Amino acid sequence: MVPPPAAAEQATRAAELRRLLNRAAHAYYVLDAPVMEDPVYDRLYRELLELETAHPELQTADSPTRRVGGAPADGFTSVEHRIGLLSLDNAFSLEELEAWYGRLLKVLDRSPEPGAPLPELAMVGELKIDGNALALSYEHGVLVRAATRGDGERGEEITANVRTIQSVPLRLQLEQPPAWVEVRGEALISEPTFAALNVERAARGEALFANPRNACAGTLRQLDPKVVAARRLDFFAYTLHLPGDWQAGTPDPPRPSTQWDSLQWLQAAGFKVNPNAALLPSLAAVEAFFARWEEGRKALPYATDGVVVKLNDLRLQADAGFTQKAPRWAIALKYAAEEAPSRLLRLACQVGRTGVVTPVAEFEPVPLAGTTVSRATLHNADRLAELDLHAGDTIVVRKAGEIIPEVVRVLSELRPAGAARLELPHTCPECGSELVREQGEAATRCVNSSCPAILRGALRHWVSKGALDVDGAGSKLIEQLVEKGLVGSIADLYRLDRALLASLERMGEKSADNLMAALAASRAQPWHRQLYGLGIHHVGEVNAKALARAFPSAAELAAAASAGPERITAVFGIGGEIAQSLQQWFATPANQELLRELAQAGFSLAADEAERAAAATGAGSGGAGGNGAPLVGQTFVLTGTLPSLSRRQAQERIEAAGGKVSSSVSRKTSYVVAGEEAGSKLTKAESLGVAVLDEAGLLALLAP
Ligand code: NAD
Repeated sequence: MVPPPAAAEQATRAAELRRLLNRAAHAYYVLDAPVMEDPVYDRLYRELLELETAHPELQTADSPTRRVGGAPADGFTSVEHRIGLLSLDNAFSLEELEAWYGRLLKVLDRSPEPGAPLPELAMVGELKIDGNALALSYEHGVLVRAATRGDGERGEEITANVRTIQSVPLRLQLEQPPAWVEVRGEALISEPTFAALNVERAARGEALFANPRNACAGTLRQLDPKVVAARRLDFFAYTLHLPGDWQAGTPDPPRPSTQWDSLQWLQAAGFKVNPNAALLPSLAAVEAFFARWEEGRKALPYATDGVVVKLNDLRLQADAGFTQKAPRWAIALKYAAEEAPSRLLRLACQVGRTGVVTPVAEFEPVPLAGTTVSRATLHNADRLAELDLHAGDTIVVRKAGEIIPEVVRVLSELRPAGAARLELPHTCPECGSELVREQGEAATRCVNSSCPAILRGALRHWVSKGALDVDGAGSKLIEQLVEKGLVGSIADLYRLDRALLASLERMGEKSADNLMAALAASRAQPWHRQLYGLGIHHVGEVNAKALARAFPSAAELAAAASAGPERITAVFGIGGEIAQSLQQWFATPANQELLRELAQAGFSLAADEAERAAAATGAGSGGAGGNGAPLVGQTFVLTGTLPSLSRRQAQERIEAAGGKVSSSVSRKTSYVVAGEEAGSKLTKAESLGVAVLDEAGLLALLAP
């Protein structure tokens, strides 16, 4: 089938990708100073390759997809490789690995009949070390030449530098060395040396190396071998090229017939072979090897970005052969990237419950650090301006582990012609009212208190677990209630008609009954939860508890707030920002009205007898604690699973005893309470010298 011709847009994209990738490859291979992250390069490269495969007329002779590496740098003699040094094809997922295996079987004429199991070929799994490939030539056992990969055909001759690498034998430890042999492997710089090198460079005001691979490449290209020696490079050998004739006049010793044997041969000849290589009998074993090193590699003192899978049998390797750029019998299976390029689809704007408008980038879904990501917050108007985002831009998105995805920057080279610059709108996308940005504030806000987005946010917060905990009031229901104009404030929730609720989408009699019961029950929630539920800026769960204890009713809190910040800030842990926020909140007529309506709806807006009694024996009004408050003034951080107390129970016990629970460890933390599988907080506590308790230790402190 003849592929359809490329659309003009695709031709432009291919040309732009080519230009950008060629520039990046030059910066990377020749200047050792990359201009983009490796995974970003890999993905854009893949996009170009896919465009060229779908539309062969887009291929050009100067495409980076047709070249290996970069041209040899000036200052070194360029030498021709006897055997070309190629690249490796990449697989970014297990599906791509399986597809590669399928292609390999096909080339070897071993594809199974439909429905039959896949034939199993033995493979060798090796770590993909992020260093630089070297080709070392030995004549009669003596190192005579070392060359970089260069463009695969010609590399730079760097023998004097390589002689300084301790793990490269200058003479092979063989009784009967071949007349000529070429050994290939990876030169690398360890992470600690890389870090130390950058510290030195920073002190001298020199540009930093972006990663160990670039630092290693830069070192190998030093003109002074003494500098190379000082940087303690290492070398792992992984490929052996033995000549057809061993040595004239002598019988050939046995030679390796598999990649695994080659590694043993290399080791016996005096090379360092990476000890983590494994002989893998099946694709399932390859997948297990890949999974094992995903975590394991983090403990290694050198950088790796995947595993290399090689067919074990050298004869089968020869049968499979090469593509223009890489062997068919090997593949680099890469670990999940933490950065990727994507294309912006839309700039959305979210209006939060405090009216803050947050720009959000929506982009083509990309796999990042194990999940698929398609949205990232752009925080505020300043960040948006700093990124200089335009419609249809190609962006770089980053997500590391648990961290929220972010747009790191824009690849403006790939911007579509005439694209419009994107800014926050001037009016609220939800209610159309003019947006406001106060001087000195990063946030842009909608200040219309009846804006449906603000109302939805306020309702969601009121019913949430830590606040009034109203079961059955989900986001979809709240959306309907606001959209249909059935609820205009929190208090309206308590005026809802059961029959009307039952008639709503996805509701019905039973759900309506349950919700009515949950709403009724929520009236009995303690005062601190009511206070937290009001959603006052800066008044989170912990602060609401402290304030509720010090001021046992809304009236007392309002009076204290309006009297100036002193009485509020006298409460342990409460600062001036909160005092100001409370003062503003209680001074706003709409909020005073809300309190009146909530009181009418049956809320006490005050502590009950039991709470007052607990507060009186507990932390009191933020002052010094008596016997009942042994933990006043102390801050705790909880981590891991405790044997009998849940997180919430432990927190409640600490707070009831006048202590504070915080989520992050600092020098001010009094104790870290650690349970099973305690995480980084425990490590941090240990490094800061913060006291660590187990549950028994905590209970002992709690005992009066
Ligand atoms: P590659 O790094 O993906 O794979 C080939 C290389 O893997 C070999 O040359 C060898 O050096 C290395 N390797 C490590 N362990 C090995 C092992 N056990 N067996 C065999 N080989 C092993 O491909 P490449 O052609 O060298 O270059 C592409 C890489 O360079 C990509 O990772 C790409 O991101 C990066 N690059 C980045 C930029 C940028 O701007 N950031 C530009 C160009 C290239």
